[in-house]
Amino acid sequence: MLKSMEIGEQVNPCEQTELKERIEATLYRLRELRERVAELKHRCEELRAMETKRVEKFKNTAKCGKCGYVLDAEEGVVVKDANGEEKSRYHRACFEALFK
Ligand SMILES: [Zn+2]
Repeated sequence: MLKSMEIGEQVNPCEQTELKERIEATLYRLRELRERVAELKHRCEELRAMETKRVEKFKNTAKCGKCGYVLDAEEGVVVKDANGEEKSRYHRACFEALFK
């Protein structure tokens, strides 16, 4: 504490004003950067939400587990695992072909 007071006394008023301005400019810049970070975070969340939607949409247009062609949402046979989660999907014909 004493040391900073000593420095304060040594700095002349003109330099003090300059120093104050520089600190204010730095704080302003810092605030700008914080806003930018917040903005980027928000954008990131938006992108994540978009990606989640995209993945869900992709799920609805999943590819056939046998032939690899895209299936419509209602089309085909859905194979579920023990937890009831969708494991794979097949065209009805492809699915039947698997068990021939
Ligand atoms: Zn198929």
